[in-house]
Amino acid sequence: MFPLLHDPAVAGRPALAFGDGSLTYGELAGAAGTVAALLRGLPDRGAGRRVAVWATPELETAVAVVGALAAGVCVVPLNPRSGERELEHILADSAPDAVLAAPRARLPEASAGPERLDVDPWTRTALAPDTAGPLDPALVVYTSGTTGPPKGAVIPRRAVAATLDALADAWAWTGDDLLVHALPLFHVHGLVLGVLGPLRRGGALRHLGRFDTAGVGRELNAGATMFFGVPTMYHRIAEALPREPELAKGLAAARLLVSGSAALPVHDHERILAATGRRVIERYGMTETLMNTSVRADAGDRPAAAGTVGVPLPGVELRLVDDDGDPLPVPDGESVGEIQVRGPNLFTEYLNRPDATAAAFTSDGWFRTGDMAVREIDGSVRIVGRRATDLIKSGGYKIGAGEIENALLEHPAVAEAAVTGAPDEDLGERIVAWVVPADPQAPPTAGELAGHVADRLAPHKRPREVRLLDALPRNDMGKVMKRALDSCSATPLT
Ligand code: ATP
Ligand code: MG
Repeated sequence: MFPLLHDPAVAGRPALAFGDGSLTYGELAGAAGTVAALLRGLPDRGAGRRVAVWATPELETAVAVVGALAAGVCVVPLNPRSGERELEHILADSAPDAVLAAPRARLPEASAGPERLDVDPWTRTALAPDTAGPLDPALVVYTSGTTGPPKGAVIPRRAVAATLDALADAWAWTGDDLLVHALPLFHVHGLVLGVLGPLRRGGALRHLGRFDTAGVGRELNAGATMFFGVPTMYHRIAEALPREPELAKGLAAARLLVSGSAALPVHDHERILAATGRRVIERYGMTETLMNTSVRADAGDRPAAAGTVGVPLPGVELRLVDDDGDPLPVPDGESVGEIQVRGPNLFTEYLNRPDATAAAFTSDGWFRTGDMAVREIDGSVRIVGRRATDLIKSGGYKIGAGEIENALLEHPAVAEAAVTGAPDEDLGERIVAWVVPADPQAPPTAGELAGHVADRLAPHKRPREVRLLDALPRNDMGKVMKRALDSCSATPLT
């Protein structure tokens, strides 16, 4: 999967940097060899070895993952901030042979069970050739748990290679790129794209440990070429730009700014464009499918409009289907359908969940994403939202929560917004807006917000009810967990 680890010609090139610790390709190969040797001592239960990695944002995590993959061992990244119950569930479900962790990491009691192995990135051992096959599992990654308990997606090695090579094509990603990284390492975005991506290309990454706008600006000014972030990061960047000229300079100099994991609010996209002249590129993916679509880096003067996630990546087949499962015939810029995908980028199954796996695929092998979208006439995909939480059926209309959220975010008194549907005798569902006010002392009125949305979109899209709260419930990726909204304490606005 990482042919360059075995290539003496690149041994001196920088590969990974986390804080003060950094490794060249040659050093990484040696450190991965040490992990591989450690894992060779584990019993093989026939189906292949599987190890969990305690995925703190540190050098040890990257070395553990690369070492295990290079040895053909399947990796289960663990979120170090998981609650006890979630951690217990994931360990029982994935049954790893061991947990790899940085020596200083303190693992909670819930992780007692599998043997703990400390990762030493500073000892070098010769790395044996990689002999695993394309359908061998590379990773079991648990979904973000945005819509229900996380499910373990079994991701074959082929999918990792296919998605990274497709992104290299879409983003003109090369070994000369240096990525500024500030994402967690237990999901696809931060681990597959952010760590494995640069290493497959022969480029480098520098991880900030934790996200801050000044760090991103500093690294982009110091020669980093790419930044990958989630929308909450771009929101903080948009807020910081007026008072951080270095950040604006860095972003303007970057080769590529990519957003994914959730929809990037149009308001933030436009503020960043206005302040830096740079368009943030959106890509759309899932744990189960890795990456499906992206705005291409060579979109040039005809970049996709804000709010679109670009075109299917090379090798990915994508279609929209109606409620009966029939494919929508041609891109028309308005018909909404569920996105289904097929291709070498797909996972093989949900671990221990044959029921969920069967339900996720059509009889002819298309994966049902549960995401709803429109296909623009030029073929690009515009996501409307998730079928389960973002599609509101009100007064005979099907309304996407996202466009209402985007409209609300343009109101100066609104800092954050989420829109849901609540059962309604008259309308079927009524539109409810959950709003974090920019200034809690001077919240907007419900009538003002309804009028604002009606003016921008259409009267039937105005919220019938507005509830104020201090913060939206978000998971580690900054995604709004709509199912948790009802249990938040919120003040109804009149
Ligand atoms: P769970 O499946 O456990 O409920 P999750 O779906 O959030 O959680 P992930 O696999 O991490 O878990 O996220 C994939 C989802 O994120 C996609 O199905 C889509 O809804 C959303 N998503 C990813 N990228 C984008 C994007 N660019 N725009 C809009 N939505 C996106
Ligand atoms: Mg999901």
